Amino acid sequence: MSDYDIIIIGSGVGGTAVGALLASKNLNTLLIEKNEIIGGRCSTYEKDGFKIDVGVHSFARSNKGPLGKVLEMIGMESAIDWNILGPGESRWYYKGGFHGFPEDLRKFLPKEELMKLLSLITEVSKIKDTSTLDEIDVKSWLSQYTNNALIHRYFYMISGLYFVIPYHQVSTGEFIRCLTSLSKYQSVGYPKGGCISIPLAYVEGIKKMGGKILTKTTANKIVVEDGKAKGVELDNGEFISSNIVISNAGIKDTVNTLVGREHFENVFLQKVDNLLYSLSAITLKLALKKPITPYKMVVSFSSEDVEEYYSQMSKGKVPDEIDYFIPVPSNYHSTMAPKENQLLTAGTIVPRENFEKNKKEWIENSLNTLENVFPGISANLLWYDVTTPEDIDLMYGKQSAVVGIAQTNNQSGINRPSVALPIEGLYMVGGDAGGWGIGTELAATSAIECSNTILEKALSQK
Ligand SMILES: Cc1cc2nc3c(=O)[nH]c(=O)nc-3n(C[C@H](O)[C@H](O)[C@H](O)COP(=O)(O)OP(=O)(O)OC[C@H]3O[C@@H](n4cnc5c(N)ncnc54)[C@H](O)[C@@H]3O)c2cc1C
Repeated sequence: MSDYDIIIIGSGVGGTAVGALLASKNLNTLLIEKNEIIGGRCSTYEKDGFKIDVGVHSFARSNKGPLGKVLEMIGMESAIDWNILGPGESRWYYKGGFHGFPEDLRKFLPKEELMKLLSLITEVSKIKDTSTLDEIDVKSWLSQYTNNALIHRYFYMISGLYFVIPYHQVSTGEFIRCLTSLSKYQSVGYPKGGCISIPLAYVEGIKKMGGKILTKTTANKIVVEDGKAKGVELDNGEFISSNIVISNAGIKDTVNTLVGREHFENVFLQKVDNLLYSLSAITLKLALKKPITPYKMVVSFSSEDVEEYYSQMSKGKVPDEIDYFIPVPSNYHSTMAPKENQLLTAGTIVPRENFEKNKKEWIENSLNTLENVFPGISANLLWYDVTTPEDIDLMYGKQSAVVGIAQTNNQSGINRPSVALPIEGLYMVGGDAGGWGIGTELAATSAIECSNTILEKALSQK
């Protein structure tokens, strides 16, 4: 008799969601998290009355997507209070001004290019099976329709924002799935209490069904005997048994460190070694004396040529004008900041290499860029916090990736790592295996897939 039916390592969106789904099926579930605060990359801390996300978050489909689906599946559909982005509440900032999307595109695009873009959107809406485009990268696909620099710039920006890799690497199938679902549901939003509300709700689901959560507890080893998962050894040496272990701790660390390479065949090891993580990010969280913007979200992008921007950044040059994704959490929920203040968060993709030596310049250029977008922001600054790739790596691992295994043209759809690892009873969940979608939604679809795979296997053995 094992101690638990299920042990989950890691309390990210994927780990907590799969825990809630399996606990709701009366499986005795234990979740182990090494940090004091749950949620992994989707976590929030408090400082001087501000509730601050570790990352910089906005949620593609809110309750209408897989994050809400998980809650619906466990009978807790109202556990999160979402505030949805309404018409006119977001803007893109380009060449010195704020603009609406898509209506203001005509200000910048010649008529024939606008027509090309519209016919491209119409064609996309007719695609029945997006998987046929999984292995084509967005840049090559887009170039079949237009070479307009601004349109390419825009697709580059969206690729960076949603998949955290440049558009010449993003899978077109994944890109189209995500963008069409965004446009269908029109429910970009943000939860009351900050992004941690999502994993917290799932943890409540686990506890409600009698499951247990251990924080400040590190799994040192996944014990495998005769090709089967047997349980987890903690950093204090304690062994907890279970025939099903689910890792939310990243596929590379799971295979190389937690399980050990000796338990896998070479072909599989080679595949894991070749997997590419998404890029990392720098995020600034700015506590402001008073509100400086009415918008809930601004996407600012530099006027620099797309190829130039990426190639210079990869070589270690810090752009003067930096692309920024800027959610304003306190404009979604006033409780995110003290009454008279405003909380503004800003994130941009950065390569993990070269970052630390250029950190000061990244921060300086970021603050200058934000001052251009929101004149007066520096004068209104109470303080700011910065999270760097090194911080992300130290806290959550996965080579400081923002998302997990990147949604490239050879790592999306059927080419994503499977949630079932080639060891009986061993599974992966989160941004590193299975699923599709933007960021947290990828982790939530992975959790649904992982839970279904485990339950189907259990049924087939009955
Ligand atoms: C800067 C930034 C901005 C982002 N913006 C967005 C956004 O706007 N929208 C969006 O949807 N997504 C966004 N994301 C991505 C999103 O946060 C992640 O894709 C998602 O939260 C990952 O969930 P996960 O299930 O893969 O687990 P992770 O968040 O990776 O969590 C894994 C957990 O496992 C724990 N762990 C690891 N090893 C062990 C061990 N040995 N023992 C115990 N515990 C262990 C870690 O401490 C961690 O808590 C952003 C991320 C970042 C960093």
